[in-house]
Amino acid sequence: MEAAEAAWLEPHESGTWSGWPRNETGEFLVGGQPLSQVVDAVGGTPCYLYDRRRITERVQGLRRALSPIVRIHYAIKANPMPALVCHFAGLADGLDVASAGELRVALDTGKSPKHISFAGPGKSERELKQAHAAGILINVESFRDVRLLAEISDSTGQPARVSVRVNLPFTLRASGMKMSGGAQQFGVDAELLPELIGEIKHAGLDFEGFHLFAGSQNLRADAIIEAQSRSCELALHWAEKLNVPLRSLNLGGGFGIPYTPSDKPLEVHAVIEHLNTLAEHARAQRPEMEVVIELGRYLVGEAGLYVCRVIERKVSRGQVFLVTDGGMHHHLAASGNFGQVIRKNYPVAINGRQGPTEVASVVGPLCTPLDLLADKAQLATATEGDLVVVLQSGAYGRSASPRGFLGHPDALEALV
Ligand SMILES: *Cc1c(COP(=O)(O)O)cnc(C)c1O
Repeated sequence: MEAAEAAWLEPHESGTWSGWPRNETGEFLVGGQPLSQVVDAVGGTPCYLYDRRRITERVQGLRRALSPIVRIHYAIKANPMPALVCHFAGLADGLDVASAGELRVALDTGKSPKHISFAGPGKSERELKQAHAAGILINVESFRDVRLLAEISDSTGQPARVSVRVNLPFTLRASGMKMSGGAQQFGVDAELLPELIGEIKHAGLDFEGFHLFAGSQNLRADAIIEAQSRSCELALHWAEKLNVPLRSLNLGGGFGIPYTPSDKPLEVHAVIEHLNTLAEHARAQRPEMEVVIELGRYLVGEAGLYVCRVIERKVSRGQVFLVTDGGMHHHLAASGNFGQVIRKNYPVAINGRQGPTEVASVVGPLCTPLDLLADKAQLATATEGDLVVVLQSGAYGRSASPRGFLGHPDALEALV
């Protein structure tokens, strides 16, 4: 069934959300099908639903606008569901993993190890062996990483492919989460680079370039542009000064998505235009070079819904609570406990209801006040059995939640 017309969340509903189609009865459409039907087909609530077509459109839109010098990697950390990663393997130029578990998911897709990279602090010896054996690019983040890879390379006679993740000498403005600048567990401090590169050369590792990731969830094009410019300039300078090749320059992820009505969507075209120019400028100096961006949230966040069902409508001293079969144990981020400084509601709506609205709080079945999916939101009046939809739920959802907490059933997942 096709959407008669893309119908938006009504302005009176929480989040004033645009962009997700609904049919004439107010049902959300997932993969073109009414939500209630999709929920029945996947086995009921609570569940996460990811819309294949929205993911495809997001990646292809970027791919069309970006210069071929710039490669798009999907950062699996944002959503490691195997079917979804498989879908990305066919769309993105590469996959980025942050653990041996994610590496297995990446290899299962059939993506060439040439286009898989591995970043993260505290890589275990076993993980490094696995990554080396698989032949993927390893972003080293410490002298220990280099020492262990030197040993592994020595004993196998096969030099490891490495790139150096550098803790930049600056921070990214306006980031939801800073991953660089100041003291960090990520990467090697820029001032230690000469010594580290010396060890990489001494060990005969196969050096490919630099990985520079300034910060996550950023909605400011000017801040991203500035960080990418400075990162690129530094990488060219280091490669020159330290006399190393620069085949790969990974500028990290961090493109943000809006979660509240006051969040202005990232002006991604400004970032792309600048990135294309930057990549061409860098390529003129380093003809062997490829620029990589590895995005998680921006590629998948807006393609996912979390759906739960109202078990009970409860009124306590005049305040309405919709008690659902889902909650913070499946969706920690929507409860405001995933690194947020100030708790704000995710966009939330009642499926298939267009009638009068009321102020209601959406809570889960956990015996803790933290189990709050929407705090006093303006929602269509809901009754028991109605489906509650949390939008913008494709990234850092199920895998980033404490699913064992309180022993309630897990959430299903489906790629539709
Ligand atoms: C988390 C992470 C990403 C993805 O970040 P987003 O903000 O989701 O785009 C990319 N690269 C590395 C190394 C990461 O740790």
